[in-house]
Amino acid sequence: MKNSSKLFLILIALTSFAFISPKKLENKQINVVLDAGHGGKDFGATQDELSEKQIVEQIITKIKAFNKNKNIIFHFTRSTDRFIPLQDRTDFINTIKPDLVLSLHTNASPNSNTSGMEFYVSKESNSYEQSNLIAENFQTKFLNSNYKVAEIKNANFYILKKSEVPAVIMELGYLTNENDKKNLASNNEQNQIAKKIIECISELK
Ligand SMILES: [Zn+2]
Repeated sequence: MKNSSKLFLILIALTSFAFISPKKLENKQINVVLDAGHGGKDFGATQDELSEKQIVEQIITKIKAFNKNKNIIFHFTRSTDRFIPLQDRTDFINTIKPDLVLSLHTNASPNSNTSGMEFYVSKESNSYEQSNLIAENFQTKFLNSNYKVAEIKNANFYILKKSEVPAVIMELGYLTNENDKKNLASNNEQNQIAKKIIECISELK
């Protein structure tokens, strides 16, 4: 082959690499298990006519509906109101091996003044460092959007320590606090939370 044709081929290879490479990165899939806490006979926290199991299911349904990022593949531990033991949830998670498990809950406290979001990760998880980084990103995003968010907490909740991948529990707010309760029951506020969660997940890789 002539030297000039070699050079031409190298140039073609270099330019196509430059164009194809970022596209490949863009298309990298992000697998996420969305875990709606509780379900069926297990209502979770309840306050007046509201129940934790219902609120988290509503928000997860919205996350699924609003997501336009085709790189994100969602998997669900439950998409209907049914009871699923914790071990069944982590068995499912460990079969999928997603990039993240996001478990949604709402909180309750004997003190009605306690309010705000909380994020939990487990130091007993072998993905602790990564879980913590992801939780920090979520925390920052919500703080920047004027949500009240506590420091990230360490807890040995089953789903956190038994998932063999990064896992974060997000407590969306306190049903025992009037303001949080009002927000969590609001269709519009649920929409905002769902959209914010999609934003956070989109930045995972
Ligand atoms: Zn819960």
